[in-house]
Amino acid sequence: MAGTDTVGETLAARPDSPLDHDVCVVGGGAAGLSAATFLARYGLDTLVLARGNSAIGQCACLENYLGFPGGIAPDRFLALGETQVAHEGGTVREEAVERVDRVELGERSTGAIGDPPGRGGFRVESDAGEYRVRYVLAATAYDGEMFAPFEDEVETDGEFGTVDSDGGRTPVEGLYAAGWMTTETVHQAVVGAGHGARAAVSLIRDDVAARFWPAVGDHYVDWVVREGRYGGDDWDEHTREWFEDEVLVDDVDDDLAAAALAHLRSEFRAREIDADERERRDREGQRRLLERLDDDVVREHAATLDGTETP
Ligand SMILES: Cc1cc2nc3c(=O)[nH]c(=O)nc-3n(C[C@H](O)[C@H](O)[C@H](O)COP(=O)(O)OP(=O)(O)OC[C@H]3O[C@@H](n4cnc5c(N)ncnc54)[C@H](O)[C@@H]3O)c2cc1C
Repeated sequence: MAGTDTVGETLAARPDSPLDHDVCVVGGGAAGLSAATFLARYGLDTLVLARGNSAIGQCACLENYLGFPGGIAPDRFLALGETQVAHEGGTVREEAVERVDRVELGERSTGAIGDPPGRGGFRVESDAGEYRVRYVLAATAYDGEMFAPFEDEVETDGEFGTVDSDGGRTPVEGLYAAGWMTTETVHQAVVGAGHGARAAVSLIRDDVAARFWPAVGDHYVDWVVREGRYGGDDWDEHTREWFEDEVLVDDVDDDLAAAALAHLRSEFRAREIDADERERRDREGQRRLLERLDDDVVREHAATLDGTETP
């Protein structure tokens, strides 16, 4: 996994786990793939199921998404997104989800990531299989059908069943929504991707909050920084003061407070990379892009570099 991998073993990874995956993202457009990238980077075993009607499939050429100066064909854009999810350790499958139901996962409280105490999960039924997961993040644009079992709790509206969400959270614990299908976006791919990230960060913060307390979750970010930014006596002292001023709340016992401080420090430290690693990642990132470009275009461009052809 290219993700930060600071959280250790998740519930789904345990040999006796009642889960097939920690989280199922339903929908593989800009919102779903962006969400899955963040969730996999956090360390959750992330499954994306995507098949069916999509908005991006109707776009002729995506020309307003930052990072593609001459525009990009929607299929290539989605393929790049799937590559990114896989690079971070997630799995993408072409399956249509038919139903999502709540299930009890049994009494357990390991305190591990993805295993907040005393809560349930979901059974996700697709046209090809069935999965038990702790969380569901829906990003299906026109298809709000899976919210039918939750109609008493989740407000949906209009022809496509647009879902009212708050930073991607729905009133159903463990169930999140992102992108076009929510009332929180405008209909542009880059906004959908941003909202997918927002919903994923809400899920992650809720997971951290359940293991510690909400203020610990509120500080979750997945930045990668240059080696030397963190660490040393000054930094240790600085983080302790910051923790006591901004994160610690009354009535937290000493062991939990110490665990939370250690968790926050290790999250920061694990994201430092040195100059060699920066260069390695930059080169690998470029190779990943090349894999999804048209081979003829790559060859034509390479020929111009040799001087054998003009652009
Ligand atoms: C005609 C048209 C042209 C557009 N042109 C542009 C443009 O030029 N630039 C721009 O920024 N935006 C454009 N948009 C808007 C853009 O497509 C959307 O904002 C964006 O695609 C929303 O992303 P999303 O991930 O929320 O939804 P989508 O991209 O629609 O993704 C939904 C995903 O859910 C999957 N899905 C649906 N139901 C199920 C199910 N039951 N089980 C599993 N998977 C399911 C779909 O297969 C798809 O993978 C255009 C939209 C249209 C309609």
